[in-house]
Amino acid sequence: MHELGSTVTARTGLVGVIGHPVAHSLSPRIHNAAFKAQNVDLVYVAFDVAPERLVEAFLGIRALGVRGVNVTVPHKEAALDLLDDVDPLAARVGAVNTVVNAAGRLTGHNTDVTGFAQALRLVVPGGARGLRCVVAGAGGAARAVLAALVDDGAASIRVFNRTSARAERLSEAAGAWGATECTAVSEQGLPAAAAGADLLVNATSVGLAAKVKDLPVPVDILHSGLAVVDLVYGEGPTRLVREARERGARAVDGIEMLLMQAGQAYRLWTGNEPSMDAMRASIERKEG
Ligand code: NAP
Repeated sequence: MHELGSTVTARTGLVGVIGHPVAHSLSPRIHNAAFKAQNVDLVYVAFDVAPERLVEAFLGIRALGVRGVNVTVPHKEAALDLLDDVDPLAARVGAVNTVVNAAGRLTGHNTDVTGFAQALRLVVPGGARGLRCVVAGAGGAARAVLAALVDDGAASIRVFNRTSARAERLSEAAGAWGATECTAVSEQGLPAAAAGADLLVNATSVGLAAKVKDLPVPVDILHSGLAVVDLVYGEGPTRLVREARERGARAVDGIEMLLMQAGQAYRLWTGNEPSMDAMRASIERKEG
């Protein structure tokens, strides 16, 4: 941090992440490492903003000329109403995670969609075209995952969620986005859906932080024919990723999507390609 501070001048631009809480965020490390690697005169900080201060925070972005922000939990939906423009993908997903400030005009994007699509290609190089998919979760992240899968031309998506009504609502909405067949699946129907699936995505928060030993789906539905993308990440691979790999499945955890969506935000703010090596190296991880 001292090293970074020594490079800040009166011309340095400001970007950051708005969330609540936000102290755990890896984004400052990832972005500052990328700015440093390419001598980009921007600095990235974390803003802890409670929901009732979000409107003021967005006025602050305009007033202070903050170049752009990432928006994270719990503000991704509320931010939609505070922008001048929303790109069509973010509008369809109903959530914004990246804002670009162009001379006071704020445009919202959703880089979770492209971030997921790129992370997916690490385990399925051809993307989701023709794949039978099971997605656990029906919150904002699951919406971004379904948008990416439908855009990729997935054959079918079964949505499994603790609160089944949310799974029904999300699968109905996603069914209208393209030709992919989208339906909700119950806990009872999950084993059969997984047995016939090519791809399993965890878009719940199960496995996060203190709950690293928890699994979003029963372990016995994992099989070697599955590719697994977990949106959750920790200090090392998640339990879901480890169990999937032990059964011969290809699996990546949420660090990949985090890095890919950060790369996309970097492109939007700077117009340049990021050093993904610098971004990756900024995160020290325990492997295994
Ligand atoms: P959200 O809108 O709050 O949705 C949370 C989802 O998790 C819901 O489907 C919820 O089910 C489910 N859930 C929570 N606790 C559960 C439990 N104990 N048992 C079963 N299901 C449970 O959150 P979100 O924004 O979609 O984010 C979901 C996860 O994705 C988070 O862990 C987030 O960190 C991660 N994420 C990662 C990236 C990345 O770049 N790697 C990007 C975006 C999000 P109910 O509907 O029943 O409550």
